[in-house]
Amino acid sequence: MKLQIVVPCYNEEKVLPESFRQFNALLGHLVAAGKISGDSRVTFVDDGSRDRTWALIEAQARVSERVAGIKLSRNRGHQNAVLAGMLSVDGDAVVTIDADLQDDLAAIERMVDEYRGGCDIVYGVRADRSTDTLFKRGTAEMFYRLLALFDVDLVHNHADFRLMSRRSVEALRQYREVNLYLRGIVPLIGFRSTAVEYVRQPRLAGESKYPLSKMLRLAAEAVTSFSTVPLQVISALGFLVFLGTMVISAWVLWVSFFTDRGVPGWASTVLPMYFLGGIQILCLGVVGAYLGKVYREIKARPRYFIEQTAGASSSPAVPPAAAGRDA
Ligand code: UDP
Ligand code: MG
Repeated sequence: MKLQIVVPCYNEEKVLPESFRQFNALLGHLVAAGKISGDSRVTFVDDGSRDRTWALIEAQARVSERVAGIKLSRNRGHQNAVLAGMLSVDGDAVVTIDADLQDDLAAIERMVDEYRGGCDIVYGVRADRSTDTLFKRGTAEMFYRLLALFDVDLVHNHADFRLMSRRSVEALRQYREVNLYLRGIVPLIGFRSTAVEYVRQPRLAGESKYPLSKMLRLAAEAVTSFSTVPLQVISALGFLVFLGTMVISAWVLWVSFFTDRGVPGWASTVLPMYFLGGIQILCLGVVGAYLGKVYREIKARPRYFIEQTAGASSSPAVPPAAAGRDA
């Protein structure tokens, strides 16, 4: 099998020399062990860095035949850099991993073993987060809870360290949404998947490119790209408020017609207020319900992938990841 390792890099000049060394050593080891073919590669994707990252990658690609580079025209963010790499390389399986050597390279060998055992997607899952600050652990936990609340299916403690088979990469290619949240999409693909656990190290050199602001943006991206629950909440709220205003309106009418407690002009002032308020939120809910549909349609996500077929007529006609398109 030919393995391709994809490594997104943004201003990583401090850590790259060590990364080159370790990735080269890993490929050499796996080739020697007979687990991957000799033409396996590691591809570094420069995500519009402002330092010497690309110069380093280029130089390394010249001296080492196992190293290749892709340079994006400008900084497009981690998720896009990972996707660009995955969709550009060939290989029977593609592993994505960060440049900073926080993720355990030894786990890649176990991923390859799982792939050879028949798995299409192997998630790298962090066994413990003890190297993280309490703050990062807390916010990460909140993040998973929040997304679960919003019906987004995620693999716990999995970042973008994973192996994907050729056909699952081809399946991924068919998701054409611009707002990209890979961790949410990959589980949607299906196919046989498993996880390998590893212990995450602190960053080897340089500093994190994921400050809190970027993490919050990623969380918002995840919710708004995968969930229409917020819209459904508005719809439900609209209906409840409307019911409430109907009751209050009836009470206002009763007070002004059948009792002498009504102040002149009171009913004609508050009645439209309640009534219009209720109607407005109800209408907003209706609009929300349709917006939710438009949102799902416009993503045009593939509706299914065929994993296997059996019987005489089937085998040659079915491409590796045959898909039906959502529209
Ligand atoms: N990265 C990228 N583009 C960006 C930000 C980060 O390609 O705009 C890369 C970065 O070089 C690293 C990986 O994404 O290889 C993860 O970033 P980082 O290690 O800073 O995040 P953390 O591990 O702190 O969450
Ligand atoms: Mg990191």
